[in-house]
Amino acid sequence: MQVMAGIDLGGTAVNYTLLDQQETFLIEGLCEHPSLSKEGPEQCLQQIAEGLRIATNQVGVTLKDVTAVGLDTPGPASAAGQLSARGSTNFVHANWAGFDIRAGLAHKLGKPVCYLNDANAAALWGHYAIFGAHSRETSISIVIGTGNGGGVIIDGNVVKGKNGFGAELGHVLIPYQSISGINGINAQCNCGRIGDLESLCSLTAIENNILPYFLPRYPGHDLAKVDLHQAAKLVRGLADKGDALSKEVFRVQAHALGLFFDEMVNTFDPDAFIVGGGALETSQGFQHWFIQEIRAAMPNQREEQAAIPIHVMPNGDTAGARGAAIEALKLAREGGLA
Ligand SMILES: [Zn+2]
Repeated sequence: MQVMAGIDLGGTAVNYTLLDQQETFLIEGLCEHPSLSKEGPEQCLQQIAEGLRIATNQVGVTLKDVTAVGLDTPGPASAAGQLSARGSTNFVHANWAGFDIRAGLAHKLGKPVCYLNDANAAALWGHYAIFGAHSRETSISIVIGTGNGGGVIIDGNVVKGKNGFGAELGHVLIPYQSISGINGINAQCNCGRIGDLESLCSLTAIENNILPYFLPRYPGHDLAKVDLHQAAKLVRGLADKGDALSKEVFRVQAHALGLFFDEMVNTFDPDAFIVGGGALETSQGFQHWFIQEIRAAMPNQREEQAAIPIHVMPNGDTAGARGAAIEALKLAREGGLA
């Protein structure tokens, strides 16, 4: 038995999945352990290895059966998996600075390991779920979470870029002034840009920009009674139930995405768009409305491009691990291991 492992290392949890050569995922839902990334590389890698052993046992295989491993983490990191020397919010321990986490894990496990950043891994999963492992298609994925991450898959391959910052789609500027009903909004992003996708389409955008704009326009709204950080997290559930202010917040996010997708139509002429992340962990009815709003905000397309589908990414919370496992299968096949 040969299996590929996908390991999604986040700030608070590590999620595992296993994929066999017939491209069947052996773990359906989350297989999660607490992440020890705060304790530095040594503890963290040790814990990843132990978690992988538990995950393999759970499905009746052993570590020996694991042919290749895909790892994904939040950035910033190089395309090959060297974490930024300047550190990052998820890897604060001093020993992480400049640490080659891909090579470190390969050494720890004694197996080939490939690396993707978390948004790119999710994008690869979304692409695979629609087109399969041997696709020649192009897809653009957006993952709406605390920030806004994304991925571009061309001919079935992840675009990583020279420094690992390829497809940082959240920081692409959009003509946000054309979104109706937000005249004068402060669309400041943490990256310093004004009016990029993340500044109007992320949980951070809801807290910093969109709610501060709309709350004064809805006097007496319940969301004004809690602090903005809390209020931002409540918007998704309220929007799903039909609350007018909260739906306006999601309309703005959808329209920002529509403008962004229009830019991508003209850049890549893709086969599909895929939207995932916490923002769409809602009822199907709400997802459907959101997708329609995205399309409504896209300027008229050429006739041939007007029907480019917009999909919701399936299995959102396991997307990173699944994408990492798919990358591992590719690595194994290219190396003649599987
Ligand atoms: Zn930005």
